[in-house]
Amino acid sequence: MLGKLFSTLENVSPKSLKFLTDPLNRLTRGRLWLQVLIGMVLGIATGLFVNPDSGFVSQPVATALGEWLALPGNLFLVFIQMIVVPLILASIVRGIAAATDVRQLKSTGLGLGFYFIISTIAAAALGIAIGLTLKPGDYVDRAVAPQVELQGPVGDLVAAQSEKIANAQDDDPATRLKELPGKITDVLPTNPLGSIVRGDMLQIVIFAIVLGVGLLSVPVESSKPLFELLGSVQEVSMAIVANVMRFAPVAVFGLLAQVMIKTGPDVLTGLAAYAAVVVFGMIVLLVVYLLTAMVLGGRSPIFMLKAIREPILLGFSTNSSAATMPVTVKTAEEVLKVRPSLSQFIVPLGATMNMGGTALYQALATIFMAQLYQIDLSASVLIALIATTVGASIGTPAVPGVGIVVLASVLSSVGVPLTGLALIIGLDRILERFRTSLNVTGDLVACVVMDRWTKSETPRAEEMREAARTEYIQAVKNEDVIVSS
Ligand code: ASP
Repeated sequence: MLGKLFSTLENVSPKSLKFLTDPLNRLTRGRLWLQVLIGMVLGIATGLFVNPDSGFVSQPVATALGEWLALPGNLFLVFIQMIVVPLILASIVRGIAAATDVRQLKSTGLGLGFYFIISTIAAAALGIAIGLTLKPGDYVDRAVAPQVELQGPVGDLVAAQSEKIANAQDDDPATRLKELPGKITDVLPTNPLGSIVRGDMLQIVIFAIVLGVGLLSVPVESSKPLFELLGSVQEVSMAIVANVMRFAPVAVFGLLAQVMIKTGPDVLTGLAAYAAVVVFGMIVLLVVYLLTAMVLGGRSPIFMLKAIREPILLGFSTNSSAATMPVTVKTAEEVLKVRPSLSQFIVPLGATMNMGGTALYQALATIFMAQLYQIDLSASVLIALIATTVGASIGTPAVPGVGIVVLASVLSSVGVPLTGLALIIGLDRILERFRTSLNVTGDLVACVVMDRWTKSETPRAEEMREAARTEYIQAVKNEDVIVSS
């Protein structure tokens, strides 16, 4: 039978991440989400206690303690970031190249692109609607806004970005139009290794898609070596993640402790209404996502919430959809029972491009700033704001601390002074956690929706059987195999 199997060299079978994540499974059977939750609560409590405002510890000691407490967390993030580029590259290429049916891949790809764009537009529109209805800008002392200054490394980044935008705005429309084609070409990776070195996720994703499609277009004998190599990269990356994840609760503890030491409850003063409106917006978006999963994906909200708590908590604690990605894929495959070929394709793409939480936040923050600076927003400006937000959220890297820099370009599109960013920069590291959790949720909802939409073509059971068969042959032959479908 095996002979017959090898004689028809038709397609390269995907290797399910389910079979790559055994150590991760063992770890999470001990309830990783609960450990992370405990780490979060203890971290916040410790941070509030050590914060100089509490009167127990002096400022220099608190700062030093914060740095030390955050050390395990920063090491954790370094290790995750270290492997996230190879993992994303390998997962997307293999996700595409493993397709058995190119026509189906095309329709899944188009359907997914359509879904990402529509859901991001809806999230941005929701942010605008909530901002216009609840008017968070009305609750802030308007005299404060222009007096705050941008500080710290992120402040420097925002200032540099603001200057760039201001210079670009001096250009007349003809010059801007002339530069547009060049800007479009700039998004594409002319030097993929350069993109990898810079860690430019959007370019890496584009390169991975091109490479995956390229692999599909050559005979199996030619694509097999690269396919196998990427399989090893994926497997090794997952093994590293599994080891690093062990330290997640301690990492989360220290990271949150440091945030609370640095910011303390004061960061909310004057901005509590804004923070409350943002969190409310995120809750509304969560409800919309859960309803989408129910109506389009056939999963009940309670089941969904329970199923995704681990990636949600990790997104919140690490502030990065990319760092959460391995756990997101695992949840999609094992808990939500999404076919591996889909989850391995959707999650890495979604982590970098599908950011509903970020879109909602950027739109809402812009409305808030416009209210603060008393700028009237016409209907056409609001439509332009949605378009800019969709583009900006796709371009926002899935790493901590950069979303606020990208927000600068959204603000400038509606003529809000960028100095206003100084006001929310301190609070951003906290609000970013909420939007990251929502970004991760959006990717998982995309998985269940796409799984249902494309269900009839390749049933999961059949795919899992195929994957198990491949695993068996793999064990016998000790290499990635080419099997008949
Ligand atoms: N940190 C967010 C993420 O990783 C992106 C953002 O800043 O909005 O999803």
